[in-house]
Amino acid sequence: MSDSQAAIRAEALESLLVEKGLLDTNDIDAVIEMYNERVGPMNGARVVAKAWRDTQFKSRLMTDATSAIEEFEFEGGEVQKLVVVENTDEVHNLVVCTLCSCYPWAVLGLPPKWYKDPAYRSRVVREPRVVLTEFGVQLLPSKKVRVWDSSAEIRYMVLPQQPQTWLGLDEEALASKITRDSMIGG
Ligand code: FE
Repeated sequence: MSDSQAAIRAEALESLLVEKGLLDTNDIDAVIEMYNERVGPMNGARVVAKAWRDTQFKSRLMTDATSAIEEFEFEGGEVQKLVVVENTDEVHNLVVCTLCSCYPWAVLGLPPKWYKDPAYRSRVVREPRVVLTEFGVQLLPSKKVRVWDSSAEIRYMVLPQQPQTWLGLDEEALASKITRDSMIGG
């Protein structure tokens, strides 16, 4: 099904449910607004930026990410057991859900299409370096790649390495530069 077909079907379904009194259009608008404006990778970016600037926060984040991010009061859920894995000079981390598309919504929003793609889910396990190259991530051969399999129980987020050139920036400026893919491992 193409995107436009899917959109037409979704619209038809919405009209039908509203007509039957099963759904309130205001509720739908509220959900769409939440995912457009308040739940997305901008939240994860704030977490990463804070971790880069605040070593105490970072250590709480690495120990128990679910409780460390409580102070942000993010909406969106799916972070009952959030684990943050840190990229270092030695290790590059990559997140997948091999089974379906488990993803930490509160910090990253809804998963991108490629994250749900069966090709990504199987290839990332077999040939993570090739997949990373396709993302434009070139790793030294000496660097280890670790693949983390998210599930309904545990969802992972990557703490990327801070580029040297960003060292003087404040949290807000940093957050505006941190990309969604960098927090998945791409
Ligand atoms: Fe899943």
